[in-house]
Amino acid sequence: MPHCRLCGADNPFISARLGFCGPCLRRHFAQVWPEVEQVHRASRRDFGLPEEPPRAVGGKLCTLCFLACRIPEGGVGYCGARRVVGGRIVGGTPTGAGVSWYDDPLPTNCVADWFCPGGTGRGYPTYANRDGPEYGYVNLAVFYHACNFNCLYCQNWDFKRRTGQGRQVTAQELADAVQDRTACICFFGGDPTPHLPHALAAAHWARQEAMACRRRLRICWETNGAMQAGWLKPLADSSLKSGGIIKFDLKAFSEEMHLALTGVSNSQTLMNFAALAQRVSGRPEVPLLTASTLLVPGYVDLEEIYGLARFIAGLNPEIPYSLLAFYPQFYLTDLPVTPRDLALAAQETARQAGVKYVNLGNVHLLK
Ligand code: SF4
Ligand code: SF4
Repeated sequence: MPHCRLCGADNPFISARLGFCGPCLRRHFAQVWPEVEQVHRASRRDFGLPEEPPRAVGGKLCTLCFLACRIPEGGVGYCGARRVVGGRIVGGTPTGAGVSWYDDPLPTNCVADWFCPGGTGRGYPTYANRDGPEYGYVNLAVFYHACNFNCLYCQNWDFKRRTGQGRQVTAQELADAVQDRTACICFFGGDPTPHLPHALAAAHWARQEAMACRRRLRICWETNGAMQAGWLKPLADSSLKSGGIIKFDLKAFSEEMHLALTGVSNSQTLMNFAALAQRVSGRPEVPLLTASTLLVPGYVDLEEIYGLARFIAGLNPEIPYSLLAFYPQFYLTDLPVTPRDLALAAQETARQAGVKYVNLGNVHLLK
């Protein structure tokens, strides 16, 4: 049975890879962090990614996310997507990004499908093609091959093999992938943040083409939400006017748990979420903003869910919130899938904290 190297607790909800139980990570963070940090560093070395954000004196400053890397000539940012070549930052720009995509028939298992125009017809006829699920249409799922977080349980970690590899695709090529039956574009990955100039350009050109042909095309984002604040306006504008949805993955409420699980702080994500909540009233027909949280057994526990739900409800109790079942992946393969009773208790906790609409996602995984 895995046990906590600090308090000695033993139960199946402790990852031997992390070495500590959830409560010790939260309450004795300074003591356990040096060991947990080594786990993060090792997980990045495996993929040739920088172990920490570069801070090169005289390096080029990247202003896409809160890590604000200073990248030396020939070097690469923490995310691995952006590098400095000939005194310029390349990667994630309209001229090239590491990205792939596929058509996902609607309705799809998107984190917002339980209330969005594609899954339900909400906002019809302004934002949806049908007064119900959009059968016969597709979501263009755009998968960026890099991320600025280092989640030890990443559910899509395979992208790390492709970070900084392969052909760089232009934003116009991506925009050209939109066809008559494309009803929405969802930018995810990895994360769209290290590629925002590329994604926003593709979204803009694809929308222009769609509007010229009188077609609806929603722009949606699924992100860890840690972009620099200046990017929030173009992000929100793209979704607001198109009927799209911004989906923030809120991974943990306590700074300590967030650092332990993702390697980085949650402060920018929470600040950005609060800022975007101010724009929700700009489109009452379809919620602009939603949050989701992966229920990592033993770590993203009821204390974390209560904190996040109080935070969301304090901003606007109508913001929809999805709690997602966890599947063991990447470095946390020694944890079980989310137990059904934990998921139900988390849903109840979020409701009691004041969030009106709380959904359980990935329910097929629940044991
Ligand atoms: S987007 Fe990448 S290179 Fe830019 S600041 Fe963030 S991690 Fe660093
Ligand atoms: S991409 Fe947007 S509109 Fe399409 S299914 Fe997902 S949330 Fe709904």
